Formats: sequence, C-alpha cells, structure tokens
Amino acid sequence: MSCQENNRGIRNPKSEITRLSTFLTLPCTIRVDAIELAAAGWYLYTRSGSNLRCFSCNVTTDLTRDRLLHSNSCRFFNGQESGNIPIKECLSRIPPSGDVSDEEM
Ligand SMILES: [Zn+2]
Repeated sequence: MSCQENNRGIRNPKSEITRLSTFLTLPCTIRVDAIELAAAGWYLYTRSGSNLRCFSCNVTTDLTRDRLLHSNSCRFFNGQESGNIPIKECLSRIPPSGDVSDEEM
C-alpha cells in the first residue's frame, strides 16, 4: 500500500504558505476556505481530487468531509512543536523591497 504515486512532491508542507498554494489547483466549483485549511495544517497532496493530508500527523482525509480529524497524536493539533512555519513567519523572512543597505548616499 503505497501512496507515492499520487504524491505531488510537496517540498515543504510544514510551511503554511506552501500548504495554501496547494489549494490553487482546486476547481472553483469546490468552495473551501483554503486559508483556514492551510492554517489548520492541511494541504492537498494529489494532483487531482480533494485528498487532504496533515503535514504533521500525515492523516489523510477528504475535503468534502464535514469534519476533518487529525490523529490523536498529532503534534500540530495538540499545540506541540511540529515544525510549522506560519505565513507571518514566511513573510517576515522576505526583506522589504527597495531596502538596499547603502548608507553612503
Ligand atoms: Zn494532524
């Protein structure tokens, strides 16, 4: 039982921004709150369809389920150190544009 075939090779699902970007491939007929899902640790891990996976506990579920349940031992869901990189942290790593360190005018 391998799910390698369907893996999109998401490089860093620990990053919230990466998780959010996986939802861009969804057809617009499927209405989801991608921001909320990404913030909750979920990302789309197949090229098509609506298969979600948690970056932390690797539980898979379907987007159309009413309830998306993490594993009981999910570190992210339990608020433990999971390596999650929130969007705010991603953005703060990008240096402000035009901020060239040229102090000698
Ligand atoms: Zn989880």
